[in-house]
Amino acid sequence: MSTQSDCLFCKISSGTIPADIVMESESAIAFRDIDPKAPTHVLVIPRSHFADVNELSASNPNLAGELLALAAKVAIQEGLATGYRIVTNTGEDAGQSVAHVHFHLLGGRSLSWPPG
Ligand code: AMP
Repeated sequence: MSTQSDCLFCKISSGTIPADIVMESESAIAFRDIDPKAPTHVLVIPRSHFADVNELSASNPNLAGELLALAAKVAIQEGLATGYRIVTNTGEDAGQSVAHVHFHLLGGRSLSWPPG
């Protein structure tokens, strides 16, 4: 597994930095966002380090699918039966602030579209 010593989400994945983990698999981990934008706001990340969805999809598209499957399982566990949103910010224009690919799972309230 490839990790980076200076990466916040690699540290969460390895347990060096604590997080409120809601689900784990061999290849991925889901934990609550520290600054939630909705009643449910969970981040789903691969344990291996990929900077963004471009790197992930080019290197390991199967893992991208596993992350989506884990997000869908978390949505069920969180009781998001009336709907939810999965977002992944890529690069500066999208406001990506952590360079370890992550899917935001948002739900628990009516979500406006398009987002601001
Ligand atoms: P993005 O801006 O799309 O890169 O998303 C990064 C997300 O990581 C933001 O929603 C932050 O609130 C969240 N975040 C940053 N540090 C932590 C942390 N230590 N634990 C949980 N979530 C975090």
